[in-house]
Amino acid sequence: MAKKIFAANWKLNKTPEEAREFVINLKNETFKIEGFFDKCEVILFPSAFSLEAVSTLCAGTAIGFGPQNIYSQNSGAFTGENSAEVAKSLRSEFILIGHSERREIFKEADADLNKKHLLTQQLGLTSVFCIGENLEQREAGKTLEVCLAQLEKGLQGANKSERLIVAYEPVWAIGTGKVATVEQVAEVHQKLHDELVSKGYASVQLLYGGSVKPDNAAELLKINYVDGFLIGGAALKVESFLQICNKA
Ligand code: PEP
Repeated sequence: MAKKIFAANWKLNKTPEEAREFVINLKNETFKIEGFFDKCEVILFPSAFSLEAVSTLCAGTAIGFGPQNIYSQNSGAFTGENSAEVAKSLRSEFILIGHSERREIFKEADADLNKKHLLTQQLGLTSVFCIGENLEQREAGKTLEVCLAQLEKGLQGANKSERLIVAYEPVWAIGTGKVATVEQVAEVHQKLHDELVSKGYASVQLLYGGSVKPDNAAELLKINYVDGFLIGGAALKVESFLQICNKA
C-alpha cells in the first residue's frame, strides 16, 4: 500500500526552540511505533526562522520539510522575501505554494504561484500546491470550476513527469472546525484525479486540508484519492499530529 502523507503547516507559530522540541519528540515517539515510516510520509512546514532548526534535527531521518512560501526568484533586490535556493541549501525537499492565507491576505495571484511552482521544479524540489474554494464560491456551486481553474493556471508549463502534491483545502474549512463532508471531499478529489490524469501528470498525490483532527481523520483517509492531509492546528502538538498519522 502507498504511504499516506501527513504535512504539518505550522503557519506563524513556534520559535526555533519550540520547533526543535517538536522534532525531538516526534523522533522519539515515531521510533516507538514499528514500521511508522513504512506507512506514513511526514512533511513539516515551519516558519522561515525555524527552518534551519528543523533541518538540523531532521538530517538523516525520514522526516521531510520545507518553507511555507518562497519568492519567485532565487536572489536579488527583493527585501524581505525568502529564497527557494536557500531553502534547498538547508536540505528542504518540499515547498508549500498557494496556501489560501497567501492567496487572500498577501494577494498572491495564480500567475505568481505559477512562477513559484516552476522555480520549485527547476530546483528539483516538490511543490505542495494548495487550491480550494471559499464559502461564497461553494454556495454559488462553483467549487469544481474554481479548483480546476486554480490548477490550470498554477501548473501552466510545468514538468508533468515530476512528483507533484496538490492540497485541496476548502477555505471555509481551514481553522474553523468546519470539516468538509466525506461526499464533498470525495467529489473534488475524484475530479482532481481525473483531470490531472487526463492532462498527463504521472505522479500526483492529493491531500485534503481543513480542520483535520484525530476524530475525523480515519473516515477522511478512506476516501478515494485522499493520499493524506495538510494539517494546521492539530499539527502543532506531536500528540494530536501522531494520532492523525496513526490512522494510516
Ligand atoms: C492549514 O493551515 O492548511 C489547515 C488546514 O489548517 P487547519 O488544519 O487548522 O484547518
